Amino acid sequence: MPNNKDFSNALVDICVASKPVLSFMDGIVGMEGAGPSAGDPREVGVVIASTSPYHLDVVATSIIGLEPTKVPTVQRCVERGLCKGNFDDIDLKGDKIEKFILNDFVIPEIRSLDLLDGKIPKFLRDILNGFLQPKPVFIHEKCVGCRDCINSCPPQVIEMVENKPIVNLDECIRCFCCQELCPVEAIDIHRPLLMKLLSRL
Ligand code: SF4
Ligand code: SF4
Repeated sequence: MPNNKDFSNALVDICVASKPVLSFMDGIVGMEGAGPSAGDPREVGVVIASTSPYHLDVVATSIIGLEPTKVPTVQRCVERGLCKGNFDDIDLKGDKIEKFILNDFVIPEIRSLDLLDGKIPKFLRDILNGFLQPKPVFIHEKCVGCRDCINSCPPQVIEMVENKPIVNLDECIRCFCCQELCPVEAIDIHRPLLMKLLSRL
């Protein structure tokens, strides 16, 4: 599911089907930047619990200074009527949440042009996507040849040549599992400049 909307819908499907009774988020030490392995630990000092995992996500995103309705999973929850996506509507108990809010938390960069959905015609968006897709770039000088990227690549489009990973970008689905799981941060995501500009729209 390389498309953000389908992927976030699938995550919400799983949550709805599993009907969690009580959800917790351990934010004592969070991770900012590009996770789950390439980010940086950040002390936040908070644990959140809620009978609604949807409201919990709204509060968590607000704590890291991110507008909840910009998060694809929260967007899907709002579309389905699972929550309103509005921090102010949520009844909070416990410590004052304001003291945990971080305005300088490093948010991961947007990795696709799904943010253009509904803003430009679909045919134009598909053309732009073809030209502007981010791509994984392997930094061979850092690579230690562990093969974790190969083992984690869903379509199996990475091969080892002389103990260095080479990717077939024509078959790459841009899931970035390789980048997330590389233990030595030897995989970068190259984003065309125009995509960076469009992601600010
Ligand atoms: S996961 Fe990283 S270190 Fe391991 S082979 Fe791939 S690029 Fe090299
Ligand atoms: S982003 Fe990485 S893991 Fe995903 S398909 Fe492309 S090469 Fe494979």
